[in-house]
Amino acid sequence: MSQVEDTLKRNLAEVEARIADACRRAGRSRAEVTLVAVTKYADVEACRVLHGLGVSDLGESRPQELWRKAAAIPHARWHLVGHLQRNKIDRTLPVVQLVHSVDSLRLLDALEAEAGKQGRKIEVLLEFNLSGEGAKHGFFAAPGISELAAVLDRLRHVRIRGLMTMAALSKDPEDVRPTFAALRDLRDRLEPMLREDYDVRHLSMGMTNDFEIAIEEGATLVRIGTALFRGLGGLGGLGDLAGAPG
Ligand SMILES: *Cc1c(COP(=O)(O)O)cnc(C)c1O
Repeated sequence: MSQVEDTLKRNLAEVEARIADACRRAGRSRAEVTLVAVTKYADVEACRVLHGLGVSDLGESRPQELWRKAAAIPHARWHLVGHLQRNKIDRTLPVVQLVHSVDSLRLLDALEAEAGKQGRKIEVLLEFNLSGEGAKHGFFAAPGISELAAVLDRLRHVRIRGLMTMAALSKDPEDVRPTFAALRDLRDRLEPMLREDYDVRHLSMGMTNDFEIAIEEGATLVRIGTALFRGLGGLGGLGDLAGAPG
């Protein structure tokens, strides 16, 4: 076994054990939670090895990196978890399974138009900024949720599957619990306002530092990078240097 494979196997086992523990504590089934491996710290080879270990969902934060890695590993289910510029929609649609980070009505409209042009359906999550940090992307909860429901109602090619949020960085992981609970609450309020054929159950929340709390609060997708790719040194990308310590 290569050293990369050895390291990734160990990291994955540790992450899986933590996911399983959190599910058990919350009385949820492991099958309700999808692990999305965020690959922004990893090179293509490390991504390929992790995919080979059975992680079928891979995520990227930058569209160009997504295109590059998805071309190299086309059998993975690719998720875009970072900001999508409108001029990158056309090349992103054909390779992406789920866009987690739709953060404006303008972007929604542009996705609807391009998906129509390409004759595709596209599944997305709406990103909400609930932690009040100015620099981040995302809808704020404030502009009426019923107004949003009206917009979503006229989409034909874009299918909203749920909501996403990023919690504020904090030393104490318990600080993020209200943010995750607020996203779940938002979903519960949005759901009855949408067309009946809409299924908006998904909650994408939780990263290396806070995914256990996210699972306890109802996450269906956790986006984990650092905890999976750490310890690869020069072989797998930035490894321990990148992202927050876990
Ligand atoms: C990088 C990133 C992650 C993964 O973060 P880690 O702390 O490394 O697990 C998750 N979501 C988004 C949007 C990211 O950009």
